[in-house]
Amino acid sequence: MASVKQHVALVSVHGDPAVEIGKEEAGGQNVYVRQVGEALARQGWQVEMFTRQSHSDRPSIVEHSSNCRTIRLTAGPEDFVPRDELFDYLPTFVDRLLEFQEHAGVRYQLVHTNYWLSAWVGMALKKHQKIAQVHTHHSLGAVKYRTVASKPPIASVRLETEQACIETAERAIATSSQEVEDMRSLVTPKGNIDVIPCGTDIERFGSISKLDARQKLGLDPNAKIAFYIGRFDPRKGIETLVRAIHLSELRNKTNFQLIIGGGSRPGQADGRERERIEQIVDELGLRSLTHFPGRIPDELMPAYYAAADVCAVPSHYEPFGLVALEAMASRTPVVASQVGGLQYSVVSEETGLLVPPQEDAAWAASIDRILSDETWQKQLGQAARARVVRHFSWESVASNLARLYTQLLESSLEK
Ligand code: UDP
Repeated sequence: MASVKQHVALVSVHGDPAVEIGKEEAGGQNVYVRQVGEALARQGWQVEMFTRQSHSDRPSIVEHSSNCRTIRLTAGPEDFVPRDELFDYLPTFVDRLLEFQEHAGVRYQLVHTNYWLSAWVGMALKKHQKIAQVHTHHSLGAVKYRTVASKPPIASVRLETEQACIETAERAIATSSQEVEDMRSLVTPKGNIDVIPCGTDIERFGSISKLDARQKLGLDPNAKIAFYIGRFDPRKGIETLVRAIHLSELRNKTNFQLIIGGGSRPGQADGRERERIEQIVDELGLRSLTHFPGRIPDELMPAYYAAADVCAVPSHYEPFGLVALEAMASRTPVVASQVGGLQYSVVSEETGLLVPPQEDAAWAASIDRILSDETWQKQLGQAARARVVRHFSWESVASNLARLYTQLLESSLEK
């Protein structure tokens, strides 16, 4: 417990912590900021989470609890703008944040920024006042651009900002040791880095049995169900999963179902990838066994994870991968790409299987291995749950962050 209620500003320019997750680029970062913010507040911090107002009909302030709120600042159009097109609005965002601070009569001594856009905001704030910056990348340009065919025009600004931030922030947070290695080998040897993993809600996930979950969702109790949930983005590798199911030997022998959740309807921001995936599903003749429930409401999410026999995280790269933790907390084995943070959350052969990304046949074989051995499937699920409870709760993430904040605030007082 912090002895005095200390203010901390969390900044997440494009990842609004108060929105519905699962559409318009909202994903792990939104969840991380919201959960960290609320857990810090429970531990006695006064938390303001700053984000960009991206819909004119949304309130500018959302109270999550008595000492945790989301503040939406108007910078650029009050409309959805893809993250790669937000850079020009950042100076206005900084001005609005400074105005808010002035009106509220607070002076933040610590800012925790998220993603490179917010890193820029944190560095700009430092030019105005004495403030310590803690930064979580969520995704590193240097890693991401290795896996995309063409870089967006903003790429060089992003890479420069990420390097400057690692070198100047009081602390950069990596969510896995793979991320430390990436920062060191691909970005810069300078700067202070700590490893604090992401977390998950271990009470919500794991609260319902498989049978009850299937009943609740109207799913066949005897079906073999493979589940994907997340944003529709080519780097998420949904195509690999679909092709793997096509190759699966089990597919024709059982009532096999593939549930691909998340994403908006075709025609919306992430609709292009969804349309592409649906086309592949049709081409491979998988339409009758594949379901696209769209964005899954929060209250049904634990049931979907619990109902699944296996949860697939086929990303080409994944800085951390909250979905893997949520599935594991729900006692569902995970088949995940052997990349990024997934290599640390999933223990291959113990809590699931790690498979090289984009290797359809290896994915098919791994999914079949788990689905054809019910006893092993259960063992993997139990071990997965135990691992998450031991290492990955939001409370422990927030305690680690709180310790770091306190240390930085104390050392800045000494200066
Ligand atoms: N999510 C959700 N509803 C959806 C799709 C995704 O709540 O329809 C959540 C999911 O439960 C997880 C987050 O979005 O908490 C995705 O985080 P992850 O780190 O796996 O991927 P990212 O979006 O950061 O790439």
